[in-house]
Amino acid sequence: MKKDAKKSKNDRHNFGQATRMDLAKAAGFKCSHRGCLAASTCVAEKAKTGKIGSANVGCASHIYAAADDGPRPAPAGMSPEKIMHVSNGIWLCRDCGTIIDNIECKYPAEILQEMKRVREFAQELTIISPEVRTVSRFISPIAFDDIFWDHLPELNRESITRAVLAVGAKSIGDYLDSKSKQSSPLPLSFALKSIASAVQTATAVTEQSSMLDLSVAQKTYSGGSPVDFACTHLREKAATIVDAWARSIRSRDWKGVGWHIHYCNVKLMARNPKTGELSDSFIWVQGNGYGRHDHLSTGGKSLHLHVSYTASNVNNLDWHLKIDIEPGRFVFESSLRMFGRPLFRDIDNPYVWQDFEAYERVLRKLSEGWEPIGFVGLETGDRLDSDVVYPELFEIDLHISKPEFDQALYDCAKVRLAQEISRACSKFFVFTPDYFNRALDESTIRQAVFNYRRPISTSYVESHERYFGPTVRVGRREIGMIVRGIWMLFDPVPRRHLY
Ligand SMILES: [Zn+2]
Repeated sequence: MKKDAKKSKNDRHNFGQATRMDLAKAAGFKCSHRGCLAASTCVAEKAKTGKIGSANVGCASHIYAAADDGPRPAPAGMSPEKIMHVSNGIWLCRDCGTIIDNIECKYPAEILQEMKRVREFAQELTIISPEVRTVSRFISPIAFDDIFWDHLPELNRESITRAVLAVGAKSIGDYLDSKSKQSSPLPLSFALKSIASAVQTATAVTEQSSMLDLSVAQKTYSGGSPVDFACTHLREKAATIVDAWARSIRSRDWKGVGWHIHYCNVKLMARNPKTGELSDSFIWVQGNGYGRHDHLSTGGKSLHLHVSYTASNVNNLDWHLKIDIEPGRFVFESSLRMFGRPLFRDIDNPYVWQDFEAYERVLRKLSEGWEPIGFVGLETGDRLDSDVVYPELFEIDLHISKPEFDQALYDCAKVRLAQEISRACSKFFVFTPDYFNRALDESTIRQAVFNYRRPISTSYVESHERYFGPTVRVGRREIGMIVRGIWMLFDPVPRRHLY
């Protein structure tokens, strides 16, 4: 290739910029070499100008050579247009791009065409099939593409989707199990208190029996006791939801048998434990749902209903609901934890702001001792407009500590402050981790904004960036305000730029 580069441009039929970009996108910016799938792009800031752009460590390689003496010479009569066409290109990482040209004998055109076909088809299916997209996140990239390789020579969309869902169901199960606090095997018991109080029979159940051994549960199944009633009721509830999910998936391409994995809406609220009053606000968010039942009726033998990962851009409340009912096994778990810290992206969008405010209000109620409750949506899919939920609530055990609540409420207060100053300054606010550092207090922030808004600014100007003090020390960095075009943020400021 190097030798070619020295030749005059006319001897080579290089890809145009647009073609290279098309090849990168078709491969999802991943190397198409089987077993490699390396990422090929990232953000990059120019050291000199501070301009933020991107770096590319991938390359659009020719299947048939761009020059007469290149590897894999083009068949006689292949026109320059064909050689420069997107169909003659494959997206690879730089290493693999070098390898296929230097070890040409191992990489005939047919092999490269196969790699291109598999990677591009796998990427396409990931985008166009909501089920595949959801599930693929839980499968390693190499294992995911291997499913497609296993289907060669025919890449049949339907049978591949089935195979992906089968592998995905297992991966998600493993993932949830590893995340769940209980060590495997799953306990043969369930929290009776939650179930029972959900059907207002809590008074009939003594405190000691709040955790029931399965043998006891089975015995009482037939007796018409509160336990029996609670189990039956929970089963009906779960079955109705899973049936509704299955119906909504069936209208697309699921055949009605086996696991189904998809998005579902959930509604999270707070309830006053003394009065039963519900909070005015609720968090309306998309979670991952997955379910399975053996018969499409409430009378089926086994039934699984799982909801998880309800955290979002402006909400870190993560509800895990798990109901497994099988012969000899009854598991009911419903817990709320915090999942990292929200990113608070696009907070200027009024809808996102609305979601943020709902999150903050529910958070506050929960921190004041209200109990979390949740509703599960009855429809599935990627873009859910439907707000239909199963009318009865699920109780949720709270697993959030006071320090976690304090931190989350502190973050919310800082988000409000950021929103206030970004409106006052007509800038978009970028939330950096340093902004949430407690060392950066409100008066420092307000003083920096004041300095920015002074009519005669003495700030140091360099390449569209302006830096404002005062700063605070966080570790070894000085955090101050930076205004970069239409953005404002609190980030480390080089010392020489402060006045
Ligand atoms: Zn590679």
